[in-house]
Amino acid sequence: MIAFADCQDVRKMTVIREINCPACGDRDGIEVFERENQTVGDSVCDKCGYTIPEGVVLDLFLEDNVPGDVCSK
Ligand SMILES: [Zn+2]
Repeated sequence: MIAFADCQDVRKMTVIREINCPACGDRDGIEVFERENQTVGDSVCDKCGYTIPEGVVLDLFLEDNVPGDVCSK
């Protein structure tokens, strides 16, 4: 039935994480899709528009971006 087994595998490895926005602090404000520890697609905060780009390691990205640093945008 399932013709695209590879795709299925990839989909299975994609996890969704809800994180607090590093810019405005909105609780679970950003929904991040993650695969193999890298983000998939842009993740945008509903509240302030803060964007986490595709293809970054989320935890490292958040460490590199000090909260408040991007607030003045
Ligand atoms: Zn935000």
